[in-house]
Amino acid sequence: MFGKVLIANRGEIALRVHRACQEMGIRTVAVHSTADATAMHVRLADESVCIGPPNARDSYLNTAAILSAATITGADAVHPGYGFLSENARFAEMVEAHGLKFIGPSPDHIRMMGDKIAAKDAMRRLDVPLVPGSPGALESLEEARAVADQIKYPVLIKAAAGGGGRGMKVARSADELEEAWRVARTEAKSAFGDDSVYMEKYLDRPRHIELQVLADTHGNVVHFGERDCSLQRRHQKLVEEAGSPVLSAADREALGARVTSALAKLGYRNAGTLEFLWQDGQFAFIEMNTRLQVEHPVTEMVCGIDLVKEQIRIAAGEPLGYGQGDIRFAGHAIECRITAEDPETFAPSPGRVNTYHAPGGLGVRVDSALYSGYTVPPHYDSLVAKLVVHAPSRPEAIGRMRRALSEMVVAGIRTTLPLHQAVMDDPEFQSGEYTIHWLERFVAGRQG
Ligand code: ADP
Repeated sequence: MFGKVLIANRGEIALRVHRACQEMGIRTVAVHSTADATAMHVRLADESVCIGPPNARDSYLNTAAILSAATITGADAVHPGYGFLSENARFAEMVEAHGLKFIGPSPDHIRMMGDKIAAKDAMRRLDVPLVPGSPGALESLEEARAVADQIKYPVLIKAAAGGGGRGMKVARSADELEEAWRVARTEAKSAFGDDSVYMEKYLDRPRHIELQVLADTHGNVVHFGERDCSLQRRHQKLVEEAGSPVLSAADREALGARVTSALAKLGYRNAGTLEFLWQDGQFAFIEMNTRLQVEHPVTEMVCGIDLVKEQIRIAAGEPLGYGQGDIRFAGHAIECRITAEDPETFAPSPGRVNTYHAPGGLGVRVDSALYSGYTVPPHYDSLVAKLVVHAPSRPEAIGRMRRALSEMVVAGIRTTLPLHQAVMDDPEFQSGEYTIHWLERFVAGRQG
């Protein structure tokens, strides 16, 4: 097992990884920008190294500074968290070239899944069902027209290098295609430096359901069931549940069997998530994330597992030591992503948190790097806390989340706490009958 792990991230996820390491008796190295010198992940780590100025490009994305920090401190492995360098194949390669272990998949698999066209190609060959669309990248507007005529409108133009919902445009009819084509490519070019796009049928009422997988280096692949992440705004998740209110145990098993056999054939290792759209009882693959996800805690709560410890054990070469039959799903878990944003306009609201009080009690978990007196810097993602509850049933989990939200205090900045409270209070949310478009309308209703 590793003696020391460098955590190449910040905020709640750096803390999350630190906690797993501590419990395993592994020492931790935090890295931080000058804006994060007093951050909680720096305070709790065994050692810390400043890697640059506030701008993430010069600090949390500064591979040379991070690798120097790892070398100077004598770390054995690097955990990338999510975001930043977590899906950067070149970074994973450089970590390994420095004689350190990268706690994640192989650079080849990161690269393959990072290109959404290559990812869909791989899944097609492995018999995983896909959303109908273009066979590969669209070379011209004429080709886009031909594919759209074939799969029928509405269609979605998506960036091959996409992420965070950027570079994605709907065309509801032939009249809208040229504009969608142009805007998606421009957005893709500016966000990812790559304007390749592809096309998918735009599903009008799907749910976003994803499957958590772990694979060791000895050929064992297991899944930990699904997460329903249909509550989204601008294609970004706000609330996640495990399990999905609409999936039966048989559906879960069938999808799980298909996915684990596909990943075994691929020789995949470490943690991964396959994202699907689910409509009319059919699953269609959209992308695979080759890293730990923000919403991983809901899976941990229902399965009683620590996914970060598993990632570390796998990277150290240990076998899983259990099989699919040993994995049980107990009760229901919900996560609310609490961000430093206005709950109605979503305008960013960084600044000083005068008072922070985390809720507690049975089945309540808070993953956050906040503390009273902390100043949320304006330079990074606005996520400040993940409030997670676990209860025997979905109605009880909702009751617990309402109670926990009412206890939580983040004073001094605006947060999305009131929005989450409104969602939990809503009868439609409570019924479980929602699609990926539900939250957008709910938010518009509150604004209007
Ligand atoms: P990103 O990598 O940018 O997050 P994804 O492919 O994961 O992009 O899609 C993000 C979200 O966009 C999905 O969860 C879903 O809400 C929506 N979406 C993606 N593809 C489609 C589609 N073909 N039809 C309808 N909605 C889609």
